[in-house]
Amino acid sequence: MPVALPADEEPIPISAVQHAVYCLRQAALIHLERLWADNRFTAEGDVLHAVADKGGSRKARGVRRVLALPLASKRLNLAGVADLVEFAPGPDGERAFPVEYKRGKPKLHRADEAQLCAQALCLEEMTGRPVPEGALFYAQTKRRVTVPFDPELRALTEAAVAGLAAALASGSTPPPTPHKSRCRACSLLELCRPETVARPVRQWRDRMLSRALEAP
Ligand code: SF4
Repeated sequence: MPVALPADEEPIPISAVQHAVYCLRQAALIHLERLWADNRFTAEGDVLHAVADKGGSRKARGVRRVLALPLASKRLNLAGVADLVEFAPGPDGERAFPVEYKRGKPKLHRADEAQLCAQALCLEEMTGRPVPEGALFYAQTKRRVTVPFDPELRALTEAAVAGLAAALASGSTPPPTPHKSRCRACSLLELCRPETVARPVRQWRDRMLSRALEAP
């Protein structure tokens, strides 16, 4: 089951896919510039993951449940750890079903779903079997939300991985694209200063645009 990753490239953490879908600048600040700041939301997430991080496996009603399972994809150069993967028996062997624990409740954006989908892509490569769906368990609602890995979500996930890989390879952090509600909840708001940084970028872009329009 283990996947050998390219020896010369540091794998992209699966958790970074969530950051990249939320905001590519946030992902680059964390994974390129190694900046991190805790806020209430990240602290709650840490507590939640501490239980799953203990690892272990057990079987109930024919389903094997594995906590803290290491995952990797050579094709996407991804590596990480799944909170929980359930392996249920099927006609053609065991089928994997990843479950990721999240704080809060289901969000309007698809960052959590993309992180789970990245786990599914790793599991498909590792097991050689399709992984059609998984689930997000939200601490606030204490409910599982089933996530089908449809073509749209797979495309979003792979695009996020590609965008992040390009940002990491370029070594430069993308400028902010301020998004009111996301920036408000972002633990890096103080370090990012989206409005202060974005203003000169906008001014430069407007200057360039008006020069292009004035040109004969
Ligand atoms: S403050 Fe906004 S623009 Fe800056 S990293 Fe966070 S979400 Fe992205």
